[in-house]
Amino acid sequence: MAARLDLRALGEFGLIEAIRRRAGDAGRAWRASIGDDGAVLRARPGRELVLTADALVEGVHFRWRTTDARSLGRKALAVNLSDLGAMGATPLGFLLTLCLPGEPGAVSERQLDGLLGGMLAEAKAAACPLVGGDTVRAPCWSLQLTAVGDVPRGRALTRAGARPGDRLLVTGSIGGAALGLRLLEAGRPLAGALGGFARRQILPRPPWRLGARLVRARLATAAIDLSDGLALDLEHLVRRSRVAAEVRIEALPLARGLRAACPELGLDALETALHGGEDYELLFCVPPAAPSARVLAGRLGVRLSEIGVICRGRGVRFLRGGAPTEIRVGGYDHFKPSAS
Ligand code: ADP
Ligand code: MG
Repeated sequence: MAARLDLRALGEFGLIEAIRRRAGDAGRAWRASIGDDGAVLRARPGRELVLTADALVEGVHFRWRTTDARSLGRKALAVNLSDLGAMGATPLGFLLTLCLPGEPGAVSERQLDGLLGGMLAEAKAAACPLVGGDTVRAPCWSLQLTAVGDVPRGRALTRAGARPGDRLLVTGSIGGAALGLRLLEAGRPLAGALGGFARRQILPRPPWRLGARLVRARLATAAIDLSDGLALDLEHLVRRSRVAAEVRIEALPLARGLRAACPELGLDALETALHGGEDYELLFCVPPAAPSARVLAGRLGVRLSEIGVICRGRGVRFLRGGAPTEIRVGGYDHFKPSAS
């Protein structure tokens, strides 16, 4: 099992060796992995590769005060799996650029141990091995992952395939992770239902396996995973597809307990659900004649809500009781002042 990691005694190369040992064999898909100058993937005939990168940076995406190392390691891979899933891809492996603060005592064995343990457990469950990376000293912690997956040739799901008449479906529920973040930042005691929101923020469970199934069943025309908030992510999708969308407010699957918990924190439940990031659910479009959301949910084994339709035009419109209603479109943007 996990050897204890003493960074100062190990040094860079000792650490890499410890990572290599813990990552284990990369499996048959890889001809070379950790230990060479590059990893070599045996690409499968008739398939195309999908690459994605997502970083978690201390002070930007997480604080040690509000997360634990094991969850952080799992989340770092989970958010990349979410992107692969949103492209309809099956994961094949990932690279890890691990940035660690260099001052003595800044990195504890427990942190490194937990982080690698969580990440490699997630990797094993997803059959997505760690195949290489880089290890560097930096002003703060960051986990920069690059994941690779594959799809049958020409069949990747993109944001650009939505057509007027398509129906809009979303998995799971929205708003919980954003509320969790606010609770953690406010230092609230996380009893009962509130703990569930916090856990969603700390350790998202994206339904990434759904993407490849949608591709296999030729069910979806476009997809995006929800990382920046449904309103903004849908805006991205309709812009890339050069269409508009109409969303029925009543149909939005707000996280259970969100309406009850938001007012206490001075938050509006609907705004939290629409603009709050890190839900890591899948938003996708199906053609008009596709089976109902209920039938699809049963067949695919996920919770699905049909929230609206794609139409001609541009932009996202929100309807309440069938009538247009003004909703500010916000969401998470690293370089713009916060919208919520
Ligand atoms: P180079 O100097 O050629 O860039 P490194 O000395 O940085 O190589 O890394 C040696 C080997 O260890 C490479 O195969 C690299 O992919 C792997 N590696 C380095 N850091 C990590 C890491 N954090 N996770 C997984 N593999 C790593
Ligand atoms: Mg080299």
